[in-house]
Parts: sequence; C-alpha cells; structure tokens
Amino acid sequence: MGNTIFSKIISKEIPADIVFESENVLAFRDISPKAPTHILIIPKIEIPTVREISGSEHAVLLGELFDAANHIAKELKIAEEGFRLVINCGANGGQEVYHLHMHLLGGRKLTWPPG
Ligand code: AMP
Repeated sequence: MGNTIFSKIISKEIPADIVFESENVLAFRDISPKAPTHILIIPKIEIPTVREISGSEHAVLLGELFDAANHIAKELKIAEEGFRLVINCGANGGQEVYHLHMHLLGGRKLTWPPG
C-alpha cells in the first residue's frame, strides 16, 4: 500500500463518508466540497496520476471508474440535470493527492472555464 491519505481511506485506517465500494473502486465524499455533491472516485490500486495510465493496461479499470460515476450520479440524483467529472494531473493541473481520483461534481450549475 502507498502512503497517500487515500491509501489510508482504502485500508480503513482513517474514516471517510463512503458512498460506493466494489472490488476495485472506492468512492467517498470530498472533505472540502466544491459543489452540493462532490464525490471522489478512486481505484484501489495505486496509480499516482493520469500520466501512469495506459489504455492497454487499465482499460477495464477505467471503465469501472466511469461505471461507478454513472451509478453514483443516479443514486445521488444528479444524473438527470448533469454533472462534471474532473481529473487533475500534476502541479499545473492542481493535483494535491497523488493517488488517481476522479471528482464527481453536481447539484448546481457549474461555470466554465475553470480558474
Ligand atoms: P486534487 O486537488 O484533485 O488532488 O483533489 C484532492 C481532493 O481530496 C481535494 O478536493 C480535497 O478536499 C480532498 N481530500 C483530501 N483529504 C481528504 C479526506 N481525508 N477525505 C476526503 N477528501 C479529502
């Protein structure tokens, strides 16, 4: 296991408000929400950033992350009105935690472009 805060959430060493869990994916509420609904969807294996993803190696896992996003959006009733999925990568992308995660944001009209 790695040493990011998300590794400790996966191993249940620290608590999180978990909204979805499967064999390979975990999703929990962001501790500092930027929208009425703000969920982080993460693979249980440690992939630091988008830069370490390869289609041939991670295609199934990536599909599971998107399936989880759709499932959670429906469950939390933000699917119909729409939502945003964001993956920050590296310093310029604004990434703070180096364990791949997809932000699922919804429940309000989101502006574009991001800051
Ligand atoms: P990023 O900037 O894309 O790396 O996003 C990291 C996100 O993790 C931020 O939105 C933080 O609010 C969130 N975060 C950090 N620690 C925790 C935690 N213990 N539980 C839930 N969310 C967290």
